[in-house]
Formats: sequence, structure tokens, C-alpha cells
Amino acid sequence: MMVVETIDDLKRLRLKLAEPVGFVPTMGYLHEGHLALVRQARAENPSVVVSIFVNPTQFGPQEDFAKYPRDPRRDLALLEKERVDIVFMPSVAKMYPPQFTSWVEVGKVAERLEGAARPGHFRGVATVVARLFDIVQPNRAYFGQKDAQQLVVIKKMVADRNMNLEIVAVPTVREPDGLAMSSRNTYLNPEERKAAVVLYQALSLAQRLWSEGERNAQTIRQQMTDLIQKQPLADIDYVSIADAETLDELDTVRPPALVSLAVKIGNTRLIDNIVL
Ligand code: AMP
Repeated sequence: MMVVETIDDLKRLRLKLAEPVGFVPTMGYLHEGHLALVRQARAENPSVVVSIFVNPTQFGPQEDFAKYPRDPRRDLALLEKERVDIVFMPSVAKMYPPQFTSWVEVGKVAERLEGAARPGHFRGVATVVARLFDIVQPNRAYFGQKDAQQLVVIKKMVADRNMNLEIVAVPTVREPDGLAMSSRNTYLNPEERKAAVVLYQALSLAQRLWSEGERNAQTIRQQMTDLIQKQPLADIDYVSIADAETLDELDTVRPPALVSLAVKIGNTRLIDNIVL
């Protein structure tokens, strides 16, 4: 496994990789969710590149960029075990040199839900992913369903720009109690960790109501909201039932519908979703 820190070195090594090249962009502090992406990339491609880059431009000024958890030594040991070919770990200065101005704006699908709650977030995500795609030139890139809107935004960018690669969605990996794995789960104290299962409980309730025949989106949103509000440590940011492609909010639930939510547990903001 080669660890590469500069764009020139990555480009030079990329020329020697057997194709198709599978690529997994991450912000590090790896868990089983990330590793599911890496394993799928490993199974489907002769070459695998993983990036570790905590992207400052997708964090708001009041967000957790500085204290985002980092453990590159542990990450590299995990990736070595998964037989990754190249790990790309650029510095912020290399990804955003002073003259850099080519931002990527994706439009409407980037403006709602997470985009509304975190202005500029998807501009940062789309810009860094476009930049990583330009550098790594992958044939396939792997993203987690955990960040469902991110997947919608990236797919839209790839379609709009006729980028020559396939975007592969990987199912959300969960803890035994249903909590979606996330690097941010490390912020939770034991009491908050227990309370955090309420996100999955609300999604499971939506799934059950849907299976029982409920089609009124507002009824499902309200029941999810009532359930979450019973948890004193939880503070709802949004509960959404939207068209899975346009992200327009639905009155009547029609598949594929994205049920997504953002909830603060103490000071930690968690997101999760399912697709009906
Ligand atoms: P991050 O390091 O949080 O930027 O995540 C890197 C990639 O891993 C993204 O495509 C995420 O959607 C994906 N990912 C994060 N958590 C999970 C999870 N629990 N299950 C599946 N994929 C995940």
C-alpha cells in the first residue's frame, strides 16, 4: 500500500494502476461503514484508491472542523488490512492553493435539507469531490447511503458535467441497536449514545407505517416527530419525506421516497435516512 501526499505523485502512480480503478473518498477516522465501501471497491476493481481528507470547505464557521476526530495511523493500518493500493492524504494547502477559485455549485438539490441547515456545505463537498475525481481519475467511486443527499448531489454533478465514471451507492452500516455508524458518534457520552438510537427508531416507525399502508407523508412525519420529542436529549433539526431524486417534499408517499432526519443529541448533530 502506498501513501501519497502530493497531487503530482498521485497522478504519476495512477498511470500505472490496472483499470477499473475504484475510489473511496473519506474524511478518515474510519469505522465499519467506511470499510464496507472499501471492501465493495476491493471486490469490484483490480485497483483501489482511498482518500483521507478532512475538507475544511464543507464545514460552516461554527462547525466542528478543528475538533473533527483524526487518527491517520489507525486509519492506515485498517486500510492496509483491506489491501488498498493507494491512500491519498493531501494537505489543505495542496487541495486549496491560494489561487484556487473553481467552486462547484450544484443547485436545487444541494439547497434543501442538509444544504438549508448547513449553508455552503454541498458547495464544499461537490468542489472537493470534483477535485478528487480530477486528480484520481477513478472509473467507479463509492459513497454511503448514510449521506443520502450527498449521493444525490454527487450523482447530479456527475450527470451535469458528463463525468466519465460510475457512482456506486453502498447501504448504511449500523451498530447492533440500529444507530448508523459515524465518526461523529465518538462525541456522544454514554447517556447520549443510548438516546441516539431514537433516530433509527423514528425511521423504523416510518417504515412500519408505510408497510401498514399509510401514504400521508405529514402523518408519518408527525408520528416520527412525536416519538423523537419523547427523548429529552433530542432536539429535531428536520424530519423529511421527500422524492428520492428531486428531494421535493411529498404530500403523498410515492416510492422511491427518502425519509431523512437530522437530530441534535446534546451538542452532536446526527443524520440518518431510509428509502421507502
Ligand atoms: P465521511 O468520512 O464521513 O466523509 O464518509 C466517507 C464515506 O463513507 C461517505 O460516502 C459516507 O456516506 C460513507 N459512510 C459514512 N458512514 C457510513 C455508514 N454508517 N454506512 C455506510 N457508509 C458510510
